[in-house]
Amino acid sequence: MFDYLIVGAGFAGSVLAERLARGLNKKVLICDRRNHIGGNAYDCHDAAGILIHRYGPHIFHTNSWDIFSYLSRFTEWRQYQHRVRACVDGRLLPIPINLDTVNELYGLQLDPQGMKEYLASVAEKKSEILTSEDVVISTVGRDLYEKFFRHYTRKQWALDPSELDAQVTARVPVRFNRDDRYFTDKYQAMPARGFTHMFGNMLDHPNIKVLLNCDYREIADDVAYGSLIFTGPVDQYFDYCYGELPYRCLEFKHETHHKPVFQSAPVVNYPNEYAYTRCTEFKYLTGQEHAATSIVYEFPCAEGDPYYPIPRPDNAALNKKYQALAEDTPNVHFVGRLATYRYYNMDQVVGQALTLFSKISGATRTQATEAALA
Ligand code: FAD
Ligand code: UDP
Repeated sequence: MFDYLIVGAGFAGSVLAERLARGLNKKVLICDRRNHIGGNAYDCHDAAGILIHRYGPHIFHTNSWDIFSYLSRFTEWRQYQHRVRACVDGRLLPIPINLDTVNELYGLQLDPQGMKEYLASVAEKKSEILTSEDVVISTVGRDLYEKFFRHYTRKQWALDPSELDAQVTARVPVRFNRDDRYFTDKYQAMPARGFTHMFGNMLDHPNIKVLLNCDYREIADDVAYGSLIFTGPVDQYFDYCYGELPYRCLEFKHETHHKPVFQSAPVVNYPNEYAYTRCTEFKYLTGQEHAATSIVYEFPCAEGDPYYPIPRPDNAALNKKYQALAEDTPNVHFVGRLATYRYYNMDQVVGQALTLFSKISGATRTQATEAALA
């Protein structure tokens, strides 16, 4: 008899398994239909012995001391500041757009004030910022929008930026200085021995049983459990009763090259007509030293595993119906990027899972966090 059956061994499921087992002494069965723990953050060594992220680059960043401290119980960290270049007009330019991006692209020598004035002269005023097109055009104008955002976004989402919520491109800011880091969060780091190692430490507890290669629907009727925690796609749980929620999928093309360095930046974005959106070279992220190097190209596609909820109003309306059904389903908790249909980063999912744990345990979030760190 298990107290909890947890579906999905990614961040959402693993944080809850850890907290319920260690914090409340509950017996937990956590299953995943994949053959590994870690969900989309899974990493492993490839045939050449290079640590790669099977499902695309995962860089941990957060402003939350709580979340960083909680995960620090299960891993040491390698400090890492992520940097990305975009391939535009045959050059590799810093993205997020910063002072150097504008100066290099247009052959200018602007200072920060000059960049502000320049962008103000090309930005188009919008009375309301509703879409991903509005966000970019109202800050950097049409030319930079076309060069850096429009084609990448159309490729990534199979939608024009004008059809996507503002939050999508708003993830990428504009900087008036020369800071070329992708993120500016207070804590930016990679698990020193990889994400999977960290997940292994989280799930290493006598109260936690892990079952891989197992869709919960194969066992749900045969296993005795008190409550269910579901981190898979919410529409799948309800047998698509209101129709399918759209998710964007990806195909990954992994390659190993027999030279120490493949490209000049950890990630190169391709906001152009190429079929892939970006190329990641893992050794930059992990700091591993090796004579060869492994990379991955990401090809967005319509069919396959669900990777991205697609933020737009009609999908939010459909999700609202599923979330209402979820609220009315006793003894089942829905948590994580797919089950709540939110375009969340890893730290946000950890935060969401810790909040659910505090509700389950009847403690405040602060009390629950203090207990988790004790
Ligand atoms: P998941 O990791 O998706 O875990 C859900 C698990 O449930 C899966 O393993 C799945 O197999 C399992 N499952 C589903 N249905 C069933 C079923 N019926 N039975 C059994 N198991 C089931 N975030 C960052 O913070 N930084 C980044 O750099 C970053 N990069 C990303 C890059 C890519 C390409 C993608 C797709 C995401 C990225 N993210 C990043 C987001 C990050 O992956 C998520 O926030 C996080 O992994 C979500 O965790 P989760 O537990 O909610 O979901
Ligand atoms: N984006 C873009 N050009 C870029 C980088 C990002 O148009 O060079 C847009 C695109 O729509 C993308 C979104 O901004 O999906 C968010 O980018 P982010 O790098 O955060 O995407 P993720 O890492 O979540 O795939």
